[in-house]
Amino acid sequence: MKNKEVRVRIAPSPTGSLHLGTARSALYNYLFAKREGGTFILRIEDTDLERSDIKYTKQIIEGLEWLGIEWDEGPTSDGKEKGKYGPYFQTKRTDTYEKYIKQLLDEDKAYYCYCSKEELEAERKAMEEKGVAPVYSGKCKNLTDEQKKAYEKEGRNSIIRYRVPEKVVTFRDMIRGEVTFDTGLLGDIAVARDVKTPLYNLAVVIDDYMMEISHVIRGEDHLSNTPKQILMTEALGFPVPEFGHLPLILNEDKTKLSKRKTKVTIDDYKEEGYLPEAILNFILLLGWNPKTEQEMFTLSEMVHVFNIGGVHKGGAVFAKEKLDWINSQYLRKLSPDQFLEIALPFLEKAGIDTSDKEYVRKAIVLEQERIKKLSDLPDMVKFFFNDISYDPALLVWKKSDPEVIKANLKIALEFFESLNEKDWSKETIEKGLMKLIEEKGLKNGEILWPIRVALTGEEKSPSPFEVAGVLGKDKVIRRIVNTNCK
Ligand code: GLU
Repeated sequence: MKNKEVRVRIAPSPTGSLHLGTARSALYNYLFAKREGGTFILRIEDTDLERSDIKYTKQIIEGLEWLGIEWDEGPTSDGKEKGKYGPYFQTKRTDTYEKYIKQLLDEDKAYYCYCSKEELEAERKAMEEKGVAPVYSGKCKNLTDEQKKAYEKEGRNSIIRYRVPEKVVTFRDMIRGEVTFDTGLLGDIAVARDVKTPLYNLAVVIDDYMMEISHVIRGEDHLSNTPKQILMTEALGFPVPEFGHLPLILNEDKTKLSKRKTKVTIDDYKEEGYLPEAILNFILLLGWNPKTEQEMFTLSEMVHVFNIGGVHKGGAVFAKEKLDWINSQYLRKLSPDQFLEIALPFLEKAGIDTSDKEYVRKAIVLEQERIKKLSDLPDMVKFFFNDISYDPALLVWKKSDPEVIKANLKIALEFFESLNEKDWSKETIEKGLMKLIEEKGLKNGEILWPIRVALTGEEKSPSPFEVAGVLGKDKVIRRIVNTNCK
């Protein structure tokens, strides 16, 4: 299918908010389309009426928008659709489906099957007992009109099955190379509930044809559907698109991705305070690598470096530590004002009083180099905003003498009291304290550690100079007095 316009799509089912795997498919399809000067389409597979919900369509749209992955055709956030190949919802495409299902029936490529669930189940069991792969027996394959009428009279429900020809289906997967399936293993597959209601494998083929999809790039979990879809495509006389199956995403322990072990929706990560740029960068590397040292990519850089043929075949392990690292890199790059803006909702949610924006900004900027995700921030900066409590034993640095610590805190207190409020800054505090340490021959740890603990109540925090500089004279003095060093 060379020289044909590249048209690719993702086709999520609206049964939950944007899934990590769908986001990765979206990104890879988007990058492939951009690189080839093609079109990227969002289509909603909402035929499963019981599980589909319009609220999830909205969440999927919002998730993609938040990530910054733009689609050229499909539903939009204002409830409309863009593009000339719509409607982009399966539930709105019934007439089209009917036409093709009738065609299959008229050409006797499909037939009505009246077997009940119980009968099919019994057949399956019998086959399993015989040790053969369970496939549909073909019982309704050649029913006479009388037999059909009799079944209908009985009030039996029917479905539509495709007469699967015995053959070997072969296709070249863009990622996996040649893939071969023996259709003998399939049996006649169910393709529609009735003449207006196709099942997934038929609907997707009709949609892909009508939308002139040139390349189907999707998760490996669909690999076993592909031969069925190729058969349907051929039965309907449509051109077969190219296929590319992306490796499964795995939990850290290399089992198949599951929400019990890994957060699986983009909303989860947004809520935890991961930046969209970081998530995009992370999912880019979930199954592909640039084969260079570069690890950080903007979306436009991705368009230049990504190549679908370079996607791995093996599973892509979700390495949380890597995501954290990438996120921390993006957080560091923000200006103090940008950092403040995105941090505020997280602080407010944690009940921190953010009314003094200048104070908040100074406090959080101290953590900007250390933070991995924004939801960690409230806990890291809470001592700037709330009263602190800690075990007084923490004040004692390593194995030093508590009396020395007490005396040193007193020295520190006198120093802070003597420092003019208008000279109050990290720099003057650092200079002053270091000078004192030298003059009095103190050990750094025996004074700087207790000051830091007295001010933060924490085992880890930014330096005492930085913390004192932000806290201001009143709070610093109060907190050191609270150690009872006088
Ligand atoms: N609705 C399917 C899914 O969400 C899409 C399958 C496909 O891309 O063909 O996995």
